[in-house]
Amino acid sequence: MAIKQYSLKADGARKLAPGFKVREFRCRDGSDVVMIDESLVMLLQCIREHFGKAVTITSGYRTGTHNKSVGGAKSSQHLLGRAADIQVAGVSVEDVAAYAESLLPGWGGVGRYPVKVGRTKGWVHVDTRAKKSRWTM
Ligand SMILES: [Zn+2]
Repeated sequence: MAIKQYSLKADGARKLAPGFKVREFRCRDGSDVVMIDESLVMLLQCIREHFGKAVTITSGYRTGTHNKSVGGAKSSQHLLGRAADIQVAGVSVEDVAAYAESLLPGWGGVGRYPVKVGRTKGWVHVDTRAKKSRWTM
């Protein structure tokens, strides 16, 4: 598995898996470069198939500038194309996170961002780092 580089302009509509196109992973600052880890795509496709519901990526690849502007961690996996923040239609943050954890028994990152005051929609962060990491924010 490798981290691949794409161009939003040239490859945006390209399908990486049945449920995911390159443009869904784009940096929200409009950058043309999109870095995407193949194992991340597989992970998301498993989640898509397990729940049978649309998986929306609210944040995928991030450039350094964009990561700073959204207050991302300095060594965020989003900078490497290894992370995605996702929402699954009609499925709770807990259920998505628990299933993601079952796919990543001894590795990868899973972060829970449940609904709270000032946050109307929750999400789950998943990433393909080698070392296991879990958190709730
Ligand atoms: Zn994230």
